[in-house]
Amino acid sequence: MMRKTVKNQWTAIAAVTVGVALAVWMNARTPTADGIVVHTPNRAEQIFPALRPDDPTAGWGSENCGEARFQHAAFINAGNIHSLSFAPFHRPERGWDTYAPMIATEIGTRCAPTSPGFAAALAQWQEKRGLEPTGQVDASTFDYMKAVWQDERPFVLTSRSGCPAPPPESSLETGRPGEGYGGKVVQLTPGAFAAYRRMVRDARAQVPAIRANPQYFQIFSAFRSPAYDAARCAQEHNCNGIVRATCSAHRTGRAMDIYVGSAPGFGPDSSADANRLAMTQSPAYRWLVLNARNYGFVPYVFEPWHWEWIGDPASSNQS
Ligand SMILES: [Zn+2]
Repeated sequence: MMRKTVKNQWTAIAAVTVGVALAVWMNARTPTADGIVVHTPNRAEQIFPALRPDDPTAGWGSENCGEARFQHAAFINAGNIHSLSFAPFHRPERGWDTYAPMIATEIGTRCAPTSPGFAAALAQWQEKRGLEPTGQVDASTFDYMKAVWQDERPFVLTSRSGCPAPPPESSLETGRPGEGYGGKVVQLTPGAFAAYRRMVRDARAQVPAIRANPQYFQIFSAFRSPAYDAARCAQEHNCNGIVRATCSAHRTGRAMDIYVGSAPGFGPDSSADANRLAMTQSPAYRWLVLNARNYGFVPYVFEPWHWEWIGDPASSNQS
């Protein structure tokens, strides 16, 4: 008798919960004049809110972030976004929140990472690549994505068959006042600098939160000669693993480390997980994820501050 009462209570609680959830969900669906129900993502459901609401490619308001078939996958993602155990960059990490903006862009959604719409877009992406279309972010799906992102960096491809020679230092351009973080003097190739300046100008024009902080996009490391890196490695025992000592992308004059925010108590290049997460939540980083490619910049995803110029997308300027 006791068992039955408890069971009935649970049934009632479950029914109420489902009812409330359904009411909330229905409320977010907006009937059009034709009576067609369109799910309008609210701000909380969007991963890039208030960055560029006028962005014609965004699909604002038309994407179904509440995709009914993917409620379960969304539930799983909502759990593992903070708890997935994986080591995509040879260091154990917990959760994939830091990579959510990159993943959303890769799978072509603006829905929040814990929404069914995000899971639906991921399932489609997985299916196209012969992966099981679960709609769930897992270590093997992430590994696949990471390979896609790494292959977009010419430096990664060329350094597989030997370290690229640095450009003559006389061919490099020096940053203007205000471009170096903390007044630092920085150098890039002329093409990379021109693209960087166009990008920063547009980001500041488009997003008030970026305009409000002049430190956003300031460069704290750009060209580093192989000799400089080797000396720093030897003197300071700061070898950044083996990368700095052997072959860093910074020798190309096309790689830059830029300020994209930081967590309290951390520097702009600290790879502490809490710091990387804070960076990827800044308006500067999210704008870059959406737009940097249009200026020829691609990221090293583990370091939210590190971007490499791969040439102008619209011209043959590659130097
Ligand atoms: Zn870097």
